Amino acid sequence: MQNLDWKNLPFGYVKTDYNVRCTFKDGKWGNLEVSESEHINIHMAATALHYGQEAFEGMKAYRGKDGKIRLFRWDENAKRMQHSAEGILMEKVPMDLFHEAVVKAVKLNERFVPPYGTGASLYVRPLLFGSGAEVGVRPAKEYMFVVFVTPVGPYFKEGFNPVKIAIVRDSDRAAPLGTGTFKVGGNYAASLRGVAKAHDAGYGSPLYLDTKEKLYIDEIGAANFFAIKDNTYITPKSSSILVSITNKSLIQLAEDLGLKVERRPVAVDELDTFEEVGACGTAAVISPIGEINDIDAGKVYKYCKNGKPGPVSTKLYETLVGIQYGELEDKHNWVTIVE
Ligand SMILES: *Cc1c(COP(=O)(O)O)cnc(C)c1O
Repeated sequence: MQNLDWKNLPFGYVKTDYNVRCTFKDGKWGNLEVSESEHINIHMAATALHYGQEAFEGMKAYRGKDGKIRLFRWDENAKRMQHSAEGILMEKVPMDLFHEAVVKAVKLNERFVPPYGTGASLYVRPLLFGSGAEVGVRPAKEYMFVVFVTPVGPYFKEGFNPVKIAIVRDSDRAAPLGTGTFKVGGNYAASLRGVAKAHDAGYGSPLYLDTKEKLYIDEIGAANFFAIKDNTYITPKSSSILVSITNKSLIQLAEDLGLKVERRPVAVDELDTFEEVGACGTAAVISPIGEINDIDAGKVYKYCKNGKPGPVSTKLYETLVGIQYGELEDKHNWVTIVE
């Protein structure tokens, strides 16, 4: 195994041995190729570079107690990438090609899958983009699908602790009938100003509101929002948020634990009434929220008043992470062992 300081790895890029690539050309997908290069040779008129025809996914491979490597709900990532492809008129990556590419990229870089017990994991980044040359605004005829991997450390270096976020009211991530439900690079470009604003004010992430009325909660940076109140798991329903696979999983686990689940518009005004608030996504699973500062409205909401994440968030977090590392029973068949 590669010798790295696993526990202190950042969420950043570390070079691994191989990546895999596949090109769609002349109406069909070619063979999956293995590359040792970190670079892609791309046409300067590729639609990805000019018109943002690009989508990506993010998932993790975990080494379990038994030494085996596990993927978590890879099929959901594959389906979501197809949804993103449909959203910006790209060629879809077939499910079996997605699976083969992810498994190959993980296996070829097995020495970078962090050891069990370090809290680290192997981040898997599939990406799809228009590589064909066009100058007029239209979809490309050629696409490239790439999967690379990079080891990442535990998200919470000092343990599962509350974070602070800020409501950003002067920039939007995605429009209601725009590309918010697709995992496309353009949404991330659009979010950079909001992220910078939150960081400059000393907060970890921006909380975006609905773009039309600024009355409802959309997302927290690149993570979904959830709240706990009266034994109920509440998460926003909106036409501009990206459906998080972590959120879907937490909804199921909440039901398993006997909580009620509400997927509905969540008003900013309700923030005062929540017992627990969190952000969820692959990177951290759950980031418990300790403070939300509505800077422009001059209002601060506080949670985790004893400095600790709430009991429901903690239980959900431990259950999901336990399934991912193979410590808890995988009742819903979410885990695939890489063989
Ligand atoms: C990727 C992403 C998420 C998190 O989704 P997961 O599938 O849980 O990793 C949430 N919001 C946005 C905008 C995202 O891009």
